[in-house]
Amino acid sequence: MSEKIQGFLVLRRFLLSLLLLSLLFLGLLLSACGPEPREEEAPPALPPSSRPLSAIYVHGESALLYAHASYAERELFPHLELWQGEAPVFLWEAEEPVNKGLLLWQIPPGDYSLRCGEDLLSVAEDVHLPAGYTITRQESNLHWQFYRDEGGFLGLRLEAVAELPEDVYDILIDPGHGGIDPGASGNGLVEAEQNLQAALYLEELFSAMGLKVALSRYDAEIPGASWEEDNPYASGARVDQVYRKQAKYLLSSHLNAGGGSGFQLYSSVYTDTDWAGRVQAQLLASGWHGDENGLGWVEDALYKRSSSQRTLIPRDYYFIIRETGGYALSPYTYRLFRIDRHAELAQGAEALLLEYMFLDNAGDAQYWKDNWKELVAAVAAGSAEYWQLDAAEQPLPKE
Ligand SMILES: [Zn+2]
Repeated sequence: MSEKIQGFLVLRRFLLSLLLLSLLFLGLLLSACGPEPREEEAPPALPPSSRPLSAIYVHGESALLYAHASYAERELFPHLELWQGEAPVFLWEAEEPVNKGLLLWQIPPGDYSLRCGEDLLSVAEDVHLPAGYTITRQESNLHWQFYRDEGGFLGLRLEAVAELPEDVYDILIDPGHGGIDPGASGNGLVEAEQNLQAALYLEELFSAMGLKVALSRYDAEIPGASWEEDNPYASGARVDQVYRKQAKYLLSSHLNAGGGSGFQLYSSVYTDTDWAGRVQAQLLASGWHGDENGLGWVEDALYKRSSSQRTLIPRDYYFIIRETGGYALSPYTYRLFRIDRHAELAQGAEALLLEYMFLDNAGDAQYWKDNWKELVAAVAAGSAEYWQLDAAEQPLPKE
């Protein structure tokens, strides 16, 4: 064999070895990056556990999610997490006052799934899922909608809108009495007339704040046929209007009589007194004083008056608070009157009833004649504070 051929054979053996080594190395590399051996595979993810949702009631801008909801017994989900994709982005701890539920206006626009701890909330097909709007802040509203997703679990979608539909309002102002009912009178004042005058001015101030406002009556008459004057539940009458206009807040304006001096503020027995407290502070700052001698006194001039009728659960004394609050309260009369509108009662308004002063007290009556505009302006300022109309940015999620 020539040296040339021998040299060629050596070179070929060397090249073949090199090729084999490279293949071996590549094989090792691939097996290192490849899938884990079968016996070490992670167990498949369990399907998420769930708890059934019983009902959602909305009071003002506060949504209450119930694990259990019957007339006499209710159980809120103790805490909620709003998830986007694989992460919770908004947390909520349940509180008892119905105006401190999941505050819809504080949730950034988006599409969320809802959980209580590890559990998704399952929704049966017959559970009513409400939808609506938050009030106008910074010239914008949020449209919100609870929905049942493809898997049968609860979702919530919020979207900013520039304008409310024609028949949807932020606030309803209720000038008390009217029609055949003049209310109290004294010292040259008739309550129904003064209530209307105050309500019209309040409408002007709220509108200037960008709110969409309606009045339950715009003149001496009560809307509807004459037989409806005594029936606030009839179609188009004051209680009915709150639901039809989807008002989130209701301010009922009155003047008092029967001995006393100063203002009184009535909140529902189911809410806290935050709204009333803001208005109270503004009324005091304007130079006026409160009255503490009414029934249902809580503190200062703040009241929560319960009905004395024996019922399974507490009820508000004043129908305009009790019957306009939706199922979060106990609107038993409207429920009976309007059996065709049960779904609408899942959403009600947060109400504040205000007695500005005692018109049968000569000093109060004179103070009203001289200062009624200042008092109405104080109510507007306190309410705007409570509604945080000038909240420039969405607040941070609750921890
Ligand atoms: Zn009155």
